[in-house]
Amino acid sequence: MINNKIECINCGNCCHFTIKGKVHRCKHLRTNKDSFYCHIYPRRLGTRISPYHYCTLRVLSKSNYKGCPHNQSEDNLINNISKYNSQVLNDELV
Ligand code: SF4
Ligand code: SF4
Repeated sequence: MINNKIECINCGNCCHFTIKGKVHRCKHLRTNKDSFYCHIYPRRLGTRISPYHYCTLRVLSKSNYKGCPHNQSEDNLINNISKYNSQVLNDELV
């Protein structure tokens, strides 16, 4: 979820995860009339949201949420993950 970007329609779809084929909603997702928001937004990154999932940057997550303006090509997604991992490794080496 990207609260500060005007393009985000705050549908909350990127705040769900799947375990054994069942979709679960993140416990930090809240509703406000017809839209959604994250109540821990400033400290969301790296928060454990299930036994198997952590909240991450939208640019590092899957690209096919219905109607999401932040969807991206698979190539772009892989590049972003690769760039992010390089940056994390570089940060750990300095
Ligand atoms: S913690 Fe992450 S996945 Fe959960 S509501 Fe907030 S932004 Fe969405
Ligand atoms: S799926 Fe896209 S439009 Fe919906 S909350 Fe996430 S970033 Fe915003």
